[in-house]
Amino acid sequence: MDCLFCKIAAGEIPSSKVYEDELVYAFKDIEPQAPVHVLVIPKEHIQSAAAITSENSGVVARIFEVISKLAVEMGLDNGFRVVSNVGESAGQSVRHLHFHVLGGRDMTWPPG
Ligand code: AMP
Ligand code: ZN
Repeated sequence: MDCLFCKIAAGEIPSSKVYEDELVYAFKDIEPQAPVHVLVIPKEHIQSAAAITSENSGVVARIFEVISKLAVEMGLDNGFRVVSNVGESAGQSVRHLHFHVLGGRDMTWPPG
């Protein structure tokens, strides 16, 4: 499948890896929007958060376990934001489920 994040998870395209297990891969965003900006993805191809079902939701629980662990490791004790853009209006540019973890600065709300 011609999917950028499938290729990154498989090590076919280089990335700055911060975590990997049999289900999950995490790496630094190439265009960081905060001092800490990591993407956490399932190795399995899931199109977006709109494609999560009872069949594939187990990996989402694992992703959030990874996020809380990484947040401690990356020193985000002041707080952080987890974002998943879905579809065109939200600005999803890569059609493989990913969770942005942003931290190291104050965040505004609502997001743009
Ligand atoms: P989204 O716009 O929510 O779909 O997020 C896609 C994210 O992937 C953006 O923040 C991009 O900067 C990031 N991105 C695109 N290509 C790469 C890459 N090769 N390595 C790391 N991050 C990337
Ligand atoms: Zn994919």
